[in-house]
Amino acid sequence: MIARVSLEIALRREFDYAIPPELAGRVDVGSRVQVPFGPRKILGVVTAIAEESGQAKLKPILKIIGAQTLVTPKVLKLARWIGEYYCCAPETSLKSVLPEAVRNEDASWRERLFVRLLPFSGEFPKLPRRQQDVWNLIEERREILLAELVELAGTTSATVRKLEDRGLIEITSEISERDPYAREEILPSQPIIINPAQSVALEKIIRAMDACRARVAQAKTDAPPPAVPGPIKPPSSSLQPPSSTFLLHGVTGSGKTEIYLQAIAHALEQNLGAIVLVPEISLTPQTVERFKARFSSGKLQTLVAVLHSHLSAGERHDEWHKIRQGRARIVIGARSAIFAPVEPLGLIIVDEEHEHTYKQEEAPRYHARDVAVMRGQMEDAVVVLGSATPSMESFYNCRHGKFTLLELPERVDDQKMPRVRVVDMRQAKRDGKGVPIFSPQLKEAITQRLERKEQTILFLNRRGYSSSLVCEKCGHVCGCPNCSLALTYHRPEQVLRCHICGYSERVPQVCPNEKCKNPGIRYFGLGTQKVEDILGKLFPQANVRRMDADVMKRKDDYRRVLGEFRAGKIDILIGTQMIAKGLHFPNVTLVGIIFADMALHQPDFRAGERTFQLLTQVAGRAGRGDIEGEVFVQAFTPFHPAIQYARRHDFVGFYEQEIEFREQLKYPPTGRVALLTLKGRNEEKVKFSAEHVKREVESKAQGSKSKASAAETASDPGRGISDLIIAGPAPAPLVRAENYYRYHIMLRTRAMSRLSQLLAQIITTLVLPDDVMLAVDIDPVDLG
Ligand code: ADP
Ligand code: ZN
Repeated sequence: MIARVSLEIALRREFDYAIPPELAGRVDVGSRVQVPFGPRKILGVVTAIAEESGQAKLKPILKIIGAQTLVTPKVLKLARWIGEYYCCAPETSLKSVLPEAVRNEDASWRERLFVRLLPFSGEFPKLPRRQQDVWNLIEERREILLAELVELAGTTSATVRKLEDRGLIEITSEISERDPYAREEILPSQPIIINPAQSVALEKIIRAMDACRARVAQAKTDAPPPAVPGPIKPPSSSLQPPSSTFLLHGVTGSGKTEIYLQAIAHALEQNLGAIVLVPEISLTPQTVERFKARFSSGKLQTLVAVLHSHLSAGERHDEWHKIRQGRARIVIGARSAIFAPVEPLGLIIVDEEHEHTYKQEEAPRYHARDVAVMRGQMEDAVVVLGSATPSMESFYNCRHGKFTLLELPERVDDQKMPRVRVVDMRQAKRDGKGVPIFSPQLKEAITQRLERKEQTILFLNRRGYSSSLVCEKCGHVCGCPNCSLALTYHRPEQVLRCHICGYSERVPQVCPNEKCKNPGIRYFGLGTQKVEDILGKLFPQANVRRMDADVMKRKDDYRRVLGEFRAGKIDILIGTQMIAKGLHFPNVTLVGIIFADMALHQPDFRAGERTFQLLTQVAGRAGRGDIEGEVFVQAFTPFHPAIQYARRHDFVGFYEQEIEFREQLKYPPTGRVALLTLKGRNEEKVKFSAEHVKREVESKAQGSKSKASAAETASDPGRGISDLIIAGPAPAPLVRAENYYRYHIMLRTRAMSRLSQLLAQIITTLVLPDDVMLAVDIDPVDLG
């Protein structure tokens, strides 16, 4: 028998290896193996087992990593789809399905020394006092970690070893699982009696789950014999989810999470597992605790595994293997948890499905929401996408019958939606001298809250103090030497910092322009530091705290500040998008959005959608308790639809007007986008290469144009793409980042799978200068 192996180095092809006798029967599809490659030893994944190979003289596999196959056949299939659809090498997509700690075996089970009493017969020996004390302690505990014992008894392990020598105790090395939430005290929770709207939604999800199970059972009874391994047919690349994909559209606080919990409970009853994806930022203890409280404590005792970037390598290893061994049936995690080896899988939940963190910004550039939909389809699992502000894509899919829409129009417990007031800052500007940071209305509202001992959240999506430093005389802007971006002034450290590459320098005393050197430098724009500063002057009596990436440096900072806020020790919390979502504090009755148009005027077709989402999410932080909430939105373009529809909490209204614009320009969701980025240190070369790439795409896309139609059939490789729109090449909005020049080519078509195939062909044959790189981003989220 031979094994076909996808190596972890970017070669875009697979290699055959012999299975040596000592590994016979242990190598399987999905096994992670180490193989010789030239003089090197390389890790890879077995993608197929076959009788024989076309090649002669195969080298043998050197060793297997892990006791079980690490990549299950289902996850392998998903990885292949990702490779094809997102146009990346198979080894790149395969790499992303395992956490690094598991993939490279750089973490393993932690073994620790346990001490136990041994049964003793005969006369108990007279022990020296120290040893007797230690023995007493062990007797009391029956079993204790050696390290703990040594500390508790104030002794050394040598003393303990003496008891072992006497045959009184044993010291054994055993696996001790790490539990990232061990210190958490989690009280069990019971299902809530849900309201009629929730029941309707839950009922549909449950019925779909049962239908999926029936289909799986049916498929098993009339399944054909297992296919002979060989060249594997590419899976159909188009996203065609069955209607067992749901979009749960419910305002914040409408009880979506309760539906997730009860749907998961149903899955568990059917012996099915579940994956819950949450955007990284809301992986706060609040979210994880709610799942653990329902399933991990009390009588259910189902293990809930958690996968996210704040875990240590060891914790990640243990959590992942708990899933692989089938002990943990529920997984909560960020983006990459979509690859968790849960089997059988009954339900996938993608909370806050509109979040951009679901898109991976490096190869493989997959969107976890779309991968979730695909995985659900492949494994006959139900997928629930939840959001208060669904993405245009998902709502469009509902309108076109691909997803089923479930709605929770109201908050639970008759809580009212907060009243949103848009403050016209042009007015404020006309009235005063400069532009104030706080309009009189917002200032007044904050004063009231302080008097009533209620809490306020202020939102501004930019950290730092001032967004730029400009010379009064010559107009020189202090920019980053590596990026085409102004440096942000950070006052506490007195430095200017680049928010792209992290470059920093001391604040200049005079204009850095050699010919000018004028001492008059002005600070423009504002960031959260400045808001904090001004707030301290306006309300010296208030307890103000700031929450952004500059102050939240350590793992625990986030929860500590939120803990203080919950306990009422903070009156006003200022923050960036870090505070926009998921937080639930009953005493917050006021939310102020300092500069609502900030995200509106960006060169991105999603700018309006993003603004709408952000405003709605931030506004949703107000009035989660008994008192009605109030939101002030300060804006310079107060009549922009994104702001006005957010004010009225009218998602559908926003969708209707936004989809018209998308349709006209063939932007997603009516068309699909692929973004090609060329980057290199020499701008001329980058430009030139971009032109070259464009010509390649043009000529390949033309194909035999006469036969082409917008409907895609992947089977005809000679066929072109008739509806392709090519824009660019043009300098990227951020033309220089980290010393690389960047040029974009934007491609739009409805036939994205076809375009992916075509781009894959181009990548393999294209010759670019050595120092110019091409990145392909299918369904891009970041257009900067
Ligand atoms: P969402 O996820 O939509 O923001 P949650 O599920 O977190 O909403 O619900 C908000 C709060 O209301 C939670 O504390 C939850 O336990 C509670 N809750 C959910 N459903 C109900 C219900 N039907 N009746 C009363 N309280 C509920
Ligand atoms: Zn920079």
